[in-house]
Amino acid sequence: MRIRTGLVDAIGNTPLIRLVGPSEATGCTILGKAEFMNPGQSVKDRAALWMIQDAVERGELQPGGVIVEGTAGNTGIGLALVANALGFRTVIVIPDTQSDEKKQMLRLAGAELVEVPAVPYKDPNNYVKLSGRLAEQLAKTEPAGAIWANQFDNVANRQAHIDATGPEIWRDLDGKVDGFVSAVGTGGTLAGTGIALKERDPNVKIALADPPGAALYSYYTTGELKAEGSSITEGIGQGRITANLEGAPVDFAYQIPDAESVQVVFDLLEHEGLCLGGSSGVNVAGAVRLARELGPGHTIVTVLCDYGTRYQSKLFNPDFLRSKDLPVPVWLERPGTVDL
Ligand code: PMP
Repeated sequence: MRIRTGLVDAIGNTPLIRLVGPSEATGCTILGKAEFMNPGQSVKDRAALWMIQDAVERGELQPGGVIVEGTAGNTGIGLALVANALGFRTVIVIPDTQSDEKKQMLRLAGAELVEVPAVPYKDPNNYVKLSGRLAEQLAKTEPAGAIWANQFDNVANRQAHIDATGPEIWRDLDGKVDGFVSAVGTGGTLAGTGIALKERDPNVKIALADPPGAALYSYYTTGELKAEGSSITEGIGQGRITANLEGAPVDFAYQIPDAESVQVVFDLLEHEGLCLGGSSGVNVAGAVRLARELGPGHTIVTVLCDYGTRYQSKLFNPDFLRSKDLPVPVWLERPGTVDL
């Protein structure tokens, strides 16, 4: 076993896992890149590390400096862990709609949390805009400096996927990849991995998988940013073209209803032992759609974004699912203990 020299070196180089059910259903090889195996249990460890390293290289962050971010959770967890390992502090602004599990993990990782009401991006009190203003204030008062990570428009985020995620996929498959599918939060994963794969082979098809309530499915199919409906998935669902999304090479776009994506999450847990969050369900459902589009015999890669325990109170809670008119798997309602 190769020794990883600390947390930073343990980020990335995640395995590709063949997803049996989706592969058999389509006659394709559908592979999930296991980003939940990163130390912070999500794909966002990569963006966190790249954004911090970029700020250090640009001289904006000195030892003991503060990293401020508005995040739905996973980026904050990645930032807080990397900050601990490299000697920085984190202040995280989070909308109060996010799961308690993510907030608890953030506190555990030593982040200072600022919880704010969830309001749309155009509102000046939106969590992203608030985090920018807070960073500006702290930059004036903190002796070792403060930066706004700004994951949506800081392209060091997608650079993580241009430098690492895409090349890892290419290397592990010896270039035998026909398609890549991803949902979008900031767009870093979709655009960065898409750019890296297209650079190596322009024939690789890149597809967006979008939840209801996001505007990108409409954008990539009609050219108009238009959002309808809503979704229970967290960490994805974008309403604008972020700097990270600019120039993303998108060939196909699919909109995945919650009933379809949560079923995929339940099937992967029940039949394949993979415990995943909702965005992974959107991604795998998107990979199945692309497989049907391309036909049997193709190799399609998607992202298993984060681990399911982060969503026990929502995605894996029968009462919550019923309140959203979503299917409740039988096994989720079984009593947890056996009387002997
Ligand atoms: N899934 C989850 C659970 C996430 O937290 C995020 C990031 N917000 C994504 C997917 C999307 O990743 P990206 O920001 O690279 O578009």
